[in-house]
Amino acid sequence: MINLLDFDLPGLTHYFAEIGEKPFRAKQVMHWIHQKGASDFEQMTDLAKSLRENLTQRAAITVPKIREEFRSEDGTVKWLIDTGAGNAVETVFIPEDDRGTLCISSQVGCALACTFCSTGRQGFNRNLSVSEIIGQLWLANKALGKDPKGERIISNVVMMGMGEPLTNFDNVVTALNIMLDDHAYGLSRRRVTVSTSGVVPAMDRLAAACPVALAVSLHAPNDALRDVLVPINQKYPLAELMAACQRYLDFAPRDFITFEYVLLDGVNDSLNHVAQLIALTRDVPCKFNLIPFNPFPDAGYERSKPEAIRRFREALQAAGYVVTTRKTRGSDIDAACGQLAGQVLDKTKRKLHKEGVTL
Ligand code: SAH
Ligand code: SF4
Repeated sequence: MINLLDFDLPGLTHYFAEIGEKPFRAKQVMHWIHQKGASDFEQMTDLAKSLRENLTQRAAITVPKIREEFRSEDGTVKWLIDTGAGNAVETVFIPEDDRGTLCISSQVGCALACTFCSTGRQGFNRNLSVSEIIGQLWLANKALGKDPKGERIISNVVMMGMGEPLTNFDNVVTALNIMLDDHAYGLSRRRVTVSTSGVVPAMDRLAAACPVALAVSLHAPNDALRDVLVPINQKYPLAELMAACQRYLDFAPRDFITFEYVLLDGVNDSLNHVAQLIALTRDVPCKFNLIPFNPFPDAGYERSKPEAIRRFREALQAAGYVVTTRKTRGSDIDAACGQLAGQVLDKTKRKLHKEGVTL
């Protein structure tokens, strides 16, 4: 059965042509699915009965299932989304005074194995489909409803949940298209952020296919340390990453890159690291988002001391950078960055075990 949640507008238009329906009807159906939250063709009362019947026979709007919902005292909401076969991913809504941000997952697990990341520790199971990615926004919109003015509560989306979005490129781009489309969610490109650990060729492809705001997980100011913390650095080292950031800015909706930097006690949080960072990013218009490390069982790292975090921030600010320190939100429901544990049966490792390779 075809799932209409898998299509962006060009895809749905094409599908309608294929099944002998008028392509322009696709806009109306996008509207029903994504703006009105319809999951049943019978709800689409302004469509001809023959079209509704045709669709009912061939297609469905299949939304992922919520396994559990957690609500934090601070208003953060976390959903555990069932992705079948005993696996799950997490979606988190973070309310702030001037915006509502939804943090979306792109994969079940992650193959890139950053050493301080709980998702990375679990290994990789599979890519999420378009419907599973956009379905997170569909479900959260429905669960949160509208604000008193009748406006949608989710104003921003960040691809900062489980997984590396740029290694699930095609599905992520289709889902981004739906987020941006005025017939669907109509979000501004500036309010949709892809976060990557630095998959350089895919950054160039994103610039060409769907330039949205970009956050790059830096976490270390030199290759020796970054090779350990963010192993993809061994393939795409810092010089290449900085050049890719510069190229991206020619297409980006914002005139800066956001560098994310997790602060790990005694590992990457000294003033010497700040000096190296300043030299490294000299030619890249950027802002820094410092993330105090969020611990998880057997992490082997600790959060930098408040004093070290303050010193790090002030040294960057003194060099003229705009710096934000991410507040830990939803800590009572384990909803903070890098704590998203979901539930991942690691296919990579099981496969390797079968082949007699021990990790
Ligand atoms: N794979 C993408 C997006 C998901 S992770 C990426 O790596 O950018 C979102 C952010 O949370 C990244 O900057 C990631 O490095 C950071 N993060 C991962 N584990 C963390 C932890 N335990 N504490 C704080 N931040 C963490
Ligand atoms: Fe994957 Fe991002 Fe976690 Fe690294 S930090 S393991 S890229 S999810």
